[in-house]
Amino acid sequence: MAKIYHDSDADLGVLKGKKIAVIGFGSQGKAQSMCLRDSGLNVVVGLRKGGKSWDDAKKNGMKVAEIADAVTDADVVMVLLPDEVQGTVYKEEIEPNLKPGAAIDFAHGFSIVFGEIKPPKKADVIMMAPKSPGPMEREMFLQGFGVPALIAVEQNPSGEAKKIALALAKGLGATKAGVIETTFTEEATSDLFGEQAVLCGGVTALIEAGFDTLVKAGYQPEIAYFECLHEVKLIVDLIQKGGMMHMWTSVSNTAEYGGLSRRDRLITADTRKEMAKMLKEKFADIKIVPYADLPMKYVPENEVVTAIAAAKPDAVVAAFGG
Ligand code: NAP
Ligand code: MG
Repeated sequence: MAKIYHDSDADLGVLKGKKIAVIGFGSQGKAQSMCLRDSGLNVVVGLRKGGKSWDDAKKNGMKVAEIADAVTDADVVMVLLPDEVQGTVYKEEIEPNLKPGAAIDFAHGFSIVFGEIKPPKKADVIMMAPKSPGPMEREMFLQGFGVPALIAVEQNPSGEAKKIALALAKGLGATKAGVIETTFTEEATSDLFGEQAVLCGGVTALIEAGFDTLVKAGYQPEIAYFECLHEVKLIVDLIQKGGMMHMWTSVSNTAEYGGLSRRDRLITADTRKEMAKMLKEKFADIKIVPYADLPMKYVPENEVVTAIAAAKPDAVVAAFGG
């Protein structure tokens, strides 16, 4: 069982009197910088002048500086930019201005694990990854609580790296919910595997295949949409709330019998073998494909995707009374 860290395991004092530069004011940067500031820490947000976030950060009462200036003298640099730009921004604006001995923090292991960023040996390299989108993090913090988070230590020359990661988590309220320790590699590869095999790749492929099967057999697309897409959320909500057994006992007996007796025909030994293969591929192709090209390149231009889009979710949901 993973050890779970709570408030009493973390000391905000580790960060008192230190300058924290949060680079980026998007989903994570906005939430994390505002929560850390509200926890009494000295936070400056590093941004490009003229970008959208600059005014937003000012409007929210944050100290704002250009990235190079924010990094200079910072004791902790939190890299909260989109993963695909981190390598370039790091090389051009962070690395040349990094104070020797400063700690570098990430919210995802991607840049370190895939070699986009190679930090100096003298830097502590840590991760504090909230398991939540930024706006929810901020909302939970304002309610006096927090969202769960993962922490990891990749380099620890100061001997303090884990304490810094735990203090950042505490500043976000995450130690109220619970913090689990992982490694950069475990976090980065499991996160990518999860979104490829299950959450984004797997679920969409399953929905499309089911939808396509019904429509090809002559069923109305609106009905197929409802059965294969709209209801996914209702089932997932049950699983999320009470686990698999809660779902099985909440659905009808026909759904329970039908689902249990057919599911292994879909996710077969071959599917599992393919998943294991994906995990071994080490995500090499993700690293080199420019993200900006992804949507056009990979969304299959097939009739299922078009038909699902054409089934107009809102109209369908309204027709069925939500
Ligand atoms: P995001 O919202 O897309 O970040 C946008 C911010 O980055 C904006 O402030 C933007 O500034 C700035 N930015 C973008 N490109 C830039 C560039 N070339 N130069 C300078 N600034 C640039 O990113 P995010 O979703 O918060 O993700 C940040 C990190 O958190 C990633 O490592 C991600 O994997 C991780 N993470 C995200 C979530 C999530 O729910 N989003 C959850 C857990 C972990 P401008 O306004 O100037 O463009
Ligand atoms: Mg994820």
